[in-house]
Amino acid sequence: MNWETVIGLEIHAQLSTISKIFSGSATAYGAPPNSQANLVDLAYPGVLPVLNGEAVRMAVKFGLSVDATIAPRSVFARKNYFYPDLPKGYQISQYELPIVAKGHMDIVLDDGTKKRIGITRAHLEEDAGKSLHEGLPKQSGIDLNRAGTPLIEIVSEPDMRSAKEAVAYLKKVHTLVRYLEICDGNMQEGSFRCDANVSVRKIGAGLGTRAEIKNINSFRYVEKAINYEVARQIDVLEGGGKVVQETRLYDPDKGETRSMRSKEEANDYRYFPDPDLPPLVVDGQIMAQTLRSLPELPSVRFERYQKLGISADDARTLVSERPLADYFDAVLAAHPGDRSGRMLANWVLTELLGALHAHGTPVAQSPMAPAALSALVVLVENGTISGKIGKDVFEDSFRTGEPPAAIVERRGLQQISDTAALWEIINRIVAANPKQAEAYTVGGKDGLFGFFVGQVMKETQGRANPVIASDLLHKRLGR
Ligand code: ADP
Ligand code: MG
Repeated sequence: MNWETVIGLEIHAQLSTISKIFSGSATAYGAPPNSQANLVDLAYPGVLPVLNGEAVRMAVKFGLSVDATIAPRSVFARKNYFYPDLPKGYQISQYELPIVAKGHMDIVLDDGTKKRIGITRAHLEEDAGKSLHEGLPKQSGIDLNRAGTPLIEIVSEPDMRSAKEAVAYLKKVHTLVRYLEICDGNMQEGSFRCDANVSVRKIGAGLGTRAEIKNINSFRYVEKAINYEVARQIDVLEGGGKVVQETRLYDPDKGETRSMRSKEEANDYRYFPDPDLPPLVVDGQIMAQTLRSLPELPSVRFERYQKLGISADDARTLVSERPLADYFDAVLAAHPGDRSGRMLANWVLTELLGALHAHGTPVAQSPMAPAALSALVVLVENGTISGKIGKDVFEDSFRTGEPPAAIVERRGLQQISDTAALWEIINRIVAANPKQAEAYTVGGKDGLFGFFVGQVMKETQGRANPVIASDLLHKRLGR
């Protein structure tokens, strides 16, 4: 049977504002329960919400980055439901008129082709509190620190056709919100999480009935949950049954999804405009300010790096984290000449990332400055040191902070390109190894050439210019 998978994602990204969306309480993660909840968050009677302007600017920033329409006037609505961690009895969200609508994001498929994923809308809303069960036998605790934390909910069109596509899209949104510095992207702390809507259909048929898998907080789980759910739905349909529209939960321990509740309809929530909040007006001034504050987007950077001759995989890694891309740009800026992109990318991705990783140091705190890394690559490019010695100098400089040129000078690591000096060394080595020389020259044992290169390197502590040394060796050995 030919089944096609259809997926739409709803992503919740916590906006990194200092205070909450409608109150002055702090949003910092990990504080003792209820130490960051004030009267507004506790829903005391008579209190009024006041909108956080920074949250609005962050939502606009996101909208502009996905080529969306920014509503000049949007409306906050009350979404009514009961939950112990929602003391107001409603969540303030946006319903009919969201601040961001009709955007898109391009993902790259396995075969290298681009696919456009539609973004239906992105709206501002507040997060709810948390119910605590762990360590509380026969009781539940309520922690309202998270109540009122600003979120944008980013809703996609049902445009994805496999778990892989869904993960690719989710990763791109994850990278983007961190680039824009509107969300820290911490999935473990729940700052970035998604609901996956999944259905299957016969190819060419209309949309099938979907199930919504709630609150998945890792890329791996998203992929597993969707694949499990697709197989489950196909099983149900092939067994002659019907998929019911419902909300399901993914259980990472069991690797399966299970039913949580039947799906509520929008009208169950009795949405209505919140009378405590006037319509949100985004004027030309906010738009202009936000446009000016936009960084170069990861997709644009990706293309720029590829134009420098950097492979797609390497370019993707470089743009995956803004601090890394910023570091790389600083290396490029410090470097003379503009044909070294690929070589610089190699040094950053292999040596620098390797060392940072081994020390658990973030790129932004790299002990080796971008200019020092560029200076090291210059020494390799102009033949002062070999690539191999360069790695040694890198380690030294990374550890001590000493500039590469000073290390080369102090340790006498300059490459030996002096023909006369090398000829003298080679003569000595060949004279000391007559049997090997004969076996190579007369006996045709090609493998012995490497032996002689090795001896030259040993003698010069790796400093012999490898190209010149091997030319001279061929000459001296007669072939
Ligand atoms: P709700 O608000 O009830 O969750 P929406 O119509 O806003 O429903 O859709 C929510 C998400 O579900 C969107 O990302 C949308 O693309 C996706 N979606 C809608 N219909 C389907 C379907 N048949 N299969 C998969 N995803 C779907
Ligand atoms: Mg939904």
